[in-house]
Amino acid sequence: MSEDDVRLIPADDSSWRFEAYLRRGGYEAARKAVTSMAPQDVIAEVRRAGLRGRGGAGFPAGLKWSFVPQCGTAPKYLCVNADEGEPGTFKDRAILVRNPHQLLEGMIIAAFGVGIRKAFIYVRGEYARIARRLEEALAEARERGFLGRGIFGSDFDLEVIVHVGAGAYICGEETALLESVEGRRGQPRFKPPFPAVVGLFRSPTVINNVETLANIPSIIGCGADWFTARGLPKDGGTRLFGVSGAVRRPGLYELPMGTPLRTIVETHAGGPPEGVAIKAVVPGGLSAPVLRPDELDVPMDFDSLAKAGSMLGTAGIVVIGDRTPIIEVLKVTARFYAHESCGQCTPCRIGTSWIHKTVTRIGEGQGRLSDLDLILRLAEGMKGRTLCPMGDAAALPIHALVSKFRDELEQAVSR
Ligand code: SF4
Repeated sequence: MSEDDVRLIPADDSSWRFEAYLRRGGYEAARKAVTSMAPQDVIAEVRRAGLRGRGGAGFPAGLKWSFVPQCGTAPKYLCVNADEGEPGTFKDRAILVRNPHQLLEGMIIAAFGVGIRKAFIYVRGEYARIARRLEEALAEARERGFLGRGIFGSDFDLEVIVHVGAGAYICGEETALLESVEGRRGQPRFKPPFPAVVGLFRSPTVINNVETLANIPSIIGCGADWFTARGLPKDGGTRLFGVSGAVRRPGLYELPMGTPLRTIVETHAGGPPEGVAIKAVVPGGLSAPVLRPDELDVPMDFDSLAKAGSMLGTAGIVVIGDRTPIIEVLKVTARFYAHESCGQCTPCRIGTSWIHKTVTRIGEGQGRLSDLDLILRLAEGMKGRTLCPMGDAAALPIHALVSKFRDELEQAVSR
């Protein structure tokens, strides 16, 4: 799928519109929460469901909501992270294009639970056309009284604003996103304090990913037990797995959390095309360390991937076939992080650009065997030493590519 998804859907397809969503039972969960539940019961139900954030870090969503102080007079905010800049990831845009009202319903429930009256949806700059669709969906919901003042005849109000970013990867980091919404350069803030206490405009703020919020209506509508039964006890529900690269049926697959990676790649996505063998698989967006073919039986959930030395991240699975040289994968990876480093801290700014220069030298046939150790040392120097997670996000996949495919890279150097 691409930004052109909006154009690819026939003009007469109205399945994403308000009326169609209502016919599918849409907004019933929000009505139930707002008219018959206490806010703290909404948070308790989401905590019980074991919903972990779908943006990459996997932090429990209900626990995050519970950190927002309930005393004080400062306004509270909800920021939806629709920045989706992680290479290999295309799940949120599918929700935004095909089912925007499910996101809006999740936002209403989250805002009601936490006591929020104003929300922002931060959409990445490359999704400008999708942002316009989102505006249309908001207008539909407002017109019918599902957003704005006195939602469902209650005294609960919610205003939602769409904010389009300028296309920087780092604005997917939650505090950089807040800076960008405030009109400043999108650079991560030092933490603590965390956004739940000091967030947007220095007020308590919940930041949730699109897919995370899209799961909320089913938790409230069908109950936490129903939701958990579709995944794992501490990692409930299904997950949107985006599969791309060397497979016969690339696409988005909604499957239970914990489905083995091999089943997703070989059964659902059809395995590699004829004459191609799998060389490596990136399991969770570019930042997730690569796995070899003998490591694909890992269940796709946050804890299992961490134990396997990688991460579930955004669940964007990229399959690399044996016709793709690892040096090419390394070049693309190194260039991306060098370009996207915000430059605020030295290990990331210098480390990513030095790695990029070294990898480029190897790619141009000018490399030395010692360059591989230099790349590993530079990656080690970045891990855990930067202000935001991007230092690790750059270091870990580069380290894994060099250490797991050292033989092939040594051949590339000696050619
Ligand atoms: Fe910026 Fe990189 Fe430091 Fe994050 S780790 S603040 S992206 S320089």
